Amino acid sequence: MDRTLFDADHEAFRQTFRQFVEREIRPHQDRWRDQGQVDREAWQKAGAQGFLCPWLEDKYGGPGADFLCSMIVMEELARAYESGFAMSLHSDIIVPYLYTFGNEAQRQRWLPGCASGELITAIAMTEPGTGSDLAAVATTAVRDGDDYVINGSKTFISNGQLCDLVIVAAKTDPDPANAHKGISLIVVEAGRPGFTKGKRLHKMGMASQDTSELFFEDCRVPAANLLGVEGGGFLMLMQKLQQERLCVAIGAVAASEQVVADTIAYTKERKAFGKPISKFQNTQFKLVECLAKTEVGRAYVDQVVAGHIAGKYLVKECSMAKFWTTDMAQEVVDTCLQFFGGYGYMLEYPVARAFMDARVQRIYAGTNEIMKVIVAKQLGL
Ligand SMILES: Cc1cc2nc3c(=O)[nH]c(=O)nc-3n(C[C@H](O)[C@H](O)[C@H](O)COP(=O)(O)OP(=O)(O)OC[C@H]3O[C@@H](n4cnc5c(N)ncnc54)[C@H](O)[C@@H]3O)c2cc1C
Repeated sequence: MDRTLFDADHEAFRQTFRQFVEREIRPHQDRWRDQGQVDREAWQKAGAQGFLCPWLEDKYGGPGADFLCSMIVMEELARAYESGFAMSLHSDIIVPYLYTFGNEAQRQRWLPGCASGELITAIAMTEPGTGSDLAAVATTAVRDGDDYVINGSKTFISNGQLCDLVIVAAKTDPDPANAHKGISLIVVEAGRPGFTKGKRLHKMGMASQDTSELFFEDCRVPAANLLGVEGGGFLMLMQKLQQERLCVAIGAVAASEQVVADTIAYTKERKAFGKPISKFQNTQFKLVECLAKTEVGRAYVDQVVAGHIAGKYLVKECSMAKFWTTDMAQEVVDTCLQFFGGYGYMLEYPVARAFMDARVQRIYAGTNEIMKVIVAKQLGL
């Protein structure tokens, strides 16, 4: 189906980014998976070519393009089965907090490094004791003169090893009666005394992603690192989570499309009982169903993206897109993997890795159950 979102400039950007993927990403993917993280140099090369924060204005060091270029980056990384190079998390989920809620001094201080890849970012909401229930975070930030003193631990934090800046969600008002109004977002730089990066976590998938624990022990941070107003953290998170959910949906659809395309090609080559397995009716019906699901998902996500970039606040649609596309991706990848037979279970086959990568998409950025809780609320149920 023809897509209407992109113009000629976007298509040119896609071609350039594809070349970057071939040159700077594909040759390193096996090594990145083995070492459990992407090379820092890859971030800097991406920044140097304008692939980080594509939407950021040039006065802050960005290339001054738009969110559609970000969408292209997400799609092309998914096409390359690169699930650990968290460019989108950085460019489209975390840096927007600095941009939207940072004051001018903070913008000048951090945004140019974020665009160049000198500063890799993380966001630390989840803790060992709480994930879905964000208002229950136990990390505290106590004001002491011109500083905040942060204590607590975070887990499952993407970019946890590579990060230079972490946006930490912490309680500045521990009174349970103010659970939602007591959360603030504070930017902590790597290297501050009291901030320790814990171990890189061993995961089912996303092997090249350095998801980690983070610890804060009497970590002193200047009050100038507070984003927005004290106690405004929960509202800021709620506002920005829509784009995060949409990014997950974009990646889920693109990954499914690639897996379906690769499976169609494989079934035409692989023979059983004297003919290509694509000639069995079961193969044809299943692959047609998979393709139909990805195209339906694509049409919906493109439409939600169009609304999103037009400035609409699409809470229901972003939540629905997130849970539907990630459930769909899991189902599609599982169906496709079956056509690879035993090879589909081998890690050297991208479909095996896509299977494991797909699983987490139903968990992070708000679980799919939480997406339904949100939609139900929107419906007044
Ligand atoms: C690879 C990976 C990367 C991640 N990256 C980050 C990151 O960079 N930063 C960050 O802060 N976090 C990150 N996370 C954490 C992720 O966002 C949380 O794991 C997720 O929000 C779920 O929280 P939880 O694990 O505590 O599960 P829980 O909240 O304990 O949920 C457990 C189960 O209970 C269900 N449940 C909970 N509440 C309800 C409800 N009200 N109604 C129905 N069901 C409910 C959930 O849907 C789930 O099935 C990452 C996680 C992973 C696995």
